Amino acid sequence: MNIFFPKEQDNEARFSLTGETAQKFLKKNINLSVEENIDFQDTLLRELIKENSINILSREEGLNSANIVCNLNKLSLEDVDKINPDALVISFLDPFNEKKLIEEFKNKSISSISMELIPRTTRAQKMDALSSQANLAGYSAVIIASNLLEKALPMMMTAAGTISPSKVFIVGVGVAGLQAIATAKRLGARVEAFDTRPVVEDQVKSLGARFIKIDLGETEETNQGYAKALTEEQIKKQQEGMKKVCANSDIVITTAQVFGKPAPKIITSEMVDAMQPGSVIVDMAVASGGNVEGSKIGEIVEVGGVKIIGNANLPGEVPTHSSQVYANNIFNLIDEFWDEENSSFKYDLNDEILSNCLVTYKGDYINPSVKERNK
Ligand code: NAD
Repeated sequence: MNIFFPKEQDNEARFSLTGETAQKFLKKNINLSVEENIDFQDTLLRELIKENSINILSREEGLNSANIVCNLNKLSLEDVDKINPDALVISFLDPFNEKKLIEEFKNKSISSISMELIPRTTRAQKMDALSSQANLAGYSAVIIASNLLEKALPMMMTAAGTISPSKVFIVGVGVAGLQAIATAKRLGARVEAFDTRPVVEDQVKSLGARFIKIDLGETEETNQGYAKALTEEQIKKQQEGMKKVCANSDIVITTAQVFGKPAPKIITSEMVDAMQPGSVIVDMAVASGGNVEGSKIGEIVEVGGVKIIGNANLPGEVPTHSSQVYANNIFNLIDEFWDEENSSFKYDLNDEILSNCLVTYKGDYINPSVKERNK
């Protein structure tokens, strides 16, 4: 059994193998190889490579010889051409937008697992890469925003005067939002938060933040706990209710997502205009359409003195830890479905985790939503 870990593209600083997970794979007598010319910061991983416990291969050789290819960001179509039929690819795949890529997997009879589609169940928590990365993204959002803000976050009472705490408003209280609240609180800010799912109110309060109540009428969530899209009228009510809070905030962090759909546009240009010059907005949904009017992927846009950050790779700001938890997610997934006797990955299609995250297998689509959308 050969597992290959190719180099990530586009200045991605995260990697899907760590020294720690490599040791666990090696204990299972699995051969590991990584792509050549990667500058690893992980000292244990470097040692394992130096002592030849892990092979170094060219991208082509690695993809050609692998039974399993693991990475973070999706491979290119040219890469897929080099992978053997019957091999398994595990990565974030963006399967609802990358139709061509997953069609290629299907046509070539390559199995593929999309890390986005690991279900949000208790048993799957150790493999849940959306959560492991969103948690660190929430942390990074606050750190980046506070660096750009020309104010300190905590209250300080000094002989030279009292500094009042900065105000942080978090919109969307999922995994990223909760960590953003916790981080801003640890830094001493005054934190407020809003989510369309009223069940999060207690979680917000338990972190010492204030929950902003906006009456939107009935809002729904899926059985996996994801918010359903609001109507246009509800979005208008939400914007109305948030206008004043945004105007009074030094930092606004938006994390609002609706599963399988573009992110809702909830901060209008008018709301940005009403904010104080020097304030900072982080649009954490920038890659899926954006919550903030005017935000741009990979850029800091300045509008009337308000900085709008569109960093689409916030977990990549803390690559050591985001690699650590992603590599653990990958190991836990393979370990969960590992057949010790035959030293192979066990495709148990009746398993609720695998039947969800498996996108293609033996020339067919497996995940029900992917299957439906590609009929
Ligand atoms: P997400 O990234 O899909 O969305 C982020 C947040 O945005 C959500 O809280 C959502 O309610 C909110 N949102 C959507 N539209 C909004 C709007 N117009 N205004 C304000 N907020 C809006 O969320 P996530 O972090 O992936 O979490 C989704 C759900 O899954 C949550 O219920 C979470 O608790 C649950 N979850 C469960 C597990 C588990 O049980 N293993 C693990 C992780 C997450």
